[in-house]
Amino acid sequence: MADDPARVVIFDTTLRDGEQAPGFTMDVLAKASLARALDALGVDVIEAGFPIASPADAEAVQHIAREVRRPTIAALARCRRQDIEEAARALAPAARPRIHTFLATSDLHLAAKLHMTRDQCLEAIVDAIRLARHFTDDVEFSAEDATRSDPEFLCRVIEAVIREGCTTVNLPDTVGYGTPDETRDFFAAIRARVFNADRAVFSTHCHDDLGLAVANSLAAIQGGARQVECTINGIGERAGNAALEEIVMALRVRRNRLPYDTGIKAEALYETSQLLTSLTQEAVQANKAIVGRNAFAHEAGIHQDGMLKDPRTYEIMRPQDVGQPAAQLVLGRHSGRHAVQQRCNALGLRVSQTELEHVYREVITLGERRKAVGDGDLRRILDRLRTAAEPVGAASAPVETIGYGHGV
Ligand code: MN
Repeated sequence: MADDPARVVIFDTTLRDGEQAPGFTMDVLAKASLARALDALGVDVIEAGFPIASPADAEAVQHIAREVRRPTIAALARCRRQDIEEAARALAPAARPRIHTFLATSDLHLAAKLHMTRDQCLEAIVDAIRLARHFTDDVEFSAEDATRSDPEFLCRVIEAVIREGCTTVNLPDTVGYGTPDETRDFFAAIRARVFNADRAVFSTHCHDDLGLAVANSLAAIQGGARQVECTINGIGERAGNAALEEIVMALRVRRNRLPYDTGIKAEALYETSQLLTSLTQEAVQANKAIVGRNAFAHEAGIHQDGMLKDPRTYEIMRPQDVGQPAAQLVLGRHSGRHAVQQRCNALGLRVSQTELEHVYREVITLGERRKAVGDGDLRRILDRLRTAAEPVGAASAPVETIGYGHGV
């Protein structure tokens, strides 16, 4: 992967930056369930949590590190001994552990928040990287508020962390302030100025305060970043992070302008998005790009006419490319087993006869209280049924999940 100059590492932080946003708290089993889905989706790195933040965070990181073996599992830590030791402890079972340590480098954050001088900041960072390298070869450093930091000081910090063996340098637009042209120039300039830049992967982490997170992430790639930090459905602090599904599909659909690859299996994007909405009970907006329920819906007569004649008139990608079901089939209390079976098939869920009987009965029960039973409900019913059969114990997903089917 590292040898291919066009390969972009997808670093998913749904379970850390995403989960820390109001309304998106997940328990350990929910996090483990999403981590399995992210593995199946093909993400390269899963940031599983911030172990020092709470015992539950540490437990979730440890659980995922033990269970999810293919992707790199990252844990966040401030530049403090206790944070790094706690991250290392939680990551101990991981096949590929990464310690991700961070400290703000902007004068504003140093003066107003941290009460540190630049020299103290640099010293704390270097100490943290040395300690983290004691536990793993895979260490990432984030210069919080990088885009508002003095470039000269930022370059000093970056050169120092790379010298200490840090292999990924993340330059976050923590407050979502950047514009695309500026972000592209920023990455190109920093990489040109840092003498040992070729020894690390540069990473972008954008927030959506101005609705520019995805555009800025793509611009960062054009400026030389080869890791993108993003989340499913774009969840995250305040207005959220860059949406993974949008970055992946922009690279795929506009390959002529953005000739970069990821390891993502795009057909699993919708399914992963649905799992997240069902675990958190927070639906995405109907018109959300790629995964919203209207993303491939056509209602205007002229559009429908065009679609019937040639779908390319109004579709730049096909719903099946991202795993969105093309057919609309409303499930409710009048549905039969056959309809449930068909819907499961359309969603790629293989169900046994025994499972079908159980899912069917649940659909009927839910249908008594709802207009329709959505895809997320089907997945949750099946996930709960299967989790209950595992030794881990019964899943704790609540019953009152928002229906999110195409028919709603
Ligand atoms: Mn963030």
